[in-house]
Amino acid sequence: MDIDYLRKKTNDINTASYEKQIYDLKQLLEISKSLSTELNINTIIDSILYICMCQMRTLSAGLFIQKDFDDSAFTLASNYNGMEIDESIDYSIPVTHPLINLLERTNMTYSYEDLVGILKESSTGLEVFETLNPSLIVPLIAKRHLNGILVLGERIDLGEGNIYSSYEKEQILNIASLAAIAINNAQLMDMATTDMMTKLKTKHYFFTILTDKIEISAKQEIPLSVLMFDIDFFKKFNDTYGHDCGDYVLTTVADTIKNGIRSQDLASRYGGEEFTVMLYDTDKDAAFKIAERIRKKIAGLKLKYNGNKVSLTISIGLSTFDSKNPITAKQLVIEADTALYESKQTGRNKTTCFSGK
Ligand code: GH3
Ligand code: MG
Ligand code: MG
Repeated sequence: MDIDYLRKKTNDINTASYEKQIYDLKQLLEISKSLSTELNINTIIDSILYICMCQMRTLSAGLFIQKDFDDSAFTLASNYNGMEIDESIDYSIPVTHPLINLLERTNMTYSYEDLVGILKESSTGLEVFETLNPSLIVPLIAKRHLNGILVLGERIDLGEGNIYSSYEKEQILNIASLAAIAINNAQLMDMATTDMMTKLKTKHYFFTILTDKIEISAKQEIPLSVLMFDIDFFKKFNDTYGHDCGDYVLTTVADTIKNGIRSQDLASRYGGEEFTVMLYDTDKDAAFKIAERIRKKIAGLKLKYNGNKVSLTISIGLSTFDSKNPITAKQLVIEADTALYESKQTGRNKTTCFSGK
């Protein structure tokens, strides 16, 4: 073969591979831009999965994350893509599993077979991956800490099957490190806006969201209501059984409130034993029904603390935003508080709607 021909061929290959690398770097920059401007964890996961499936040409992908900052396991996030899920399987890996240490220590990609070979008998528990038919398992590491495990499914067959080149593995690890930073930011944001004890949002966060939603409500004439809750005679729990009992009552009320509202609503721990709820797209009558359902649920709880029966009730105040007569978030909460005061004055364990009188 002609030497000039060979030289030209090599040059063409080099140029093509440089062009590919520049293209991939530009992609990384775009991915970085889109992930770093987002703080909602579900939107971030959607983007990560979409990006990774496109870049690695796979038919499916899923991400295992810790649902809470102190969660004891990595669990498959519900917005997985293209995976066949068996409802009877618990798709989670405890943080104490040797896999977590291995991924954190090496920051490398693995096939399922690689992991079983390395971890040998310690690989028990990794069968959850096998059922997902993985082609590659990728750690998401930020600040030397694992905060996600990406599982890529079968590849779209372009001749290479489920094999990844070392260049592709490097590329997916670059994407994974950007994804890990985005997840870390979202988790920090979540931590800073969440009350540790009750896992409800803070007062400050509540006002931020309420202000945004009121603006939308005013423009689009969407009804919006606010509930304010205060535990009746809360002091007696602390005084009779101690602060731990008070804390137990607080978390019970918080859980009941959270379970009684929809995902588009927002519950906060407003103060010591006071809570607020924003009910989006909800008028006064619908809000009253929700408030009463929660109030009755709490009054009907059969609680025991250290073997002692504890009876628990709450009082509620309700205010509704009227787009024809707009008011600020602060005023709306004051109205709910005024209505709550009336509930307290007129017997407790009841819901009062703000009347403006
Ligand atoms: P009322 O029916 O009028 O609301 O009576 P109350 O006893 O609930 O009255 P008040 O609102 O004045 O009592 C609030 C008490 O809540 C005072 C405070 O010591 C207690 N408290 C506030 N935060 C916490 C907390 O995080 N844990 C515990 N255990 N107690 C708390
Ligand atoms: Mg109070
Ligand atoms: Mg109280």
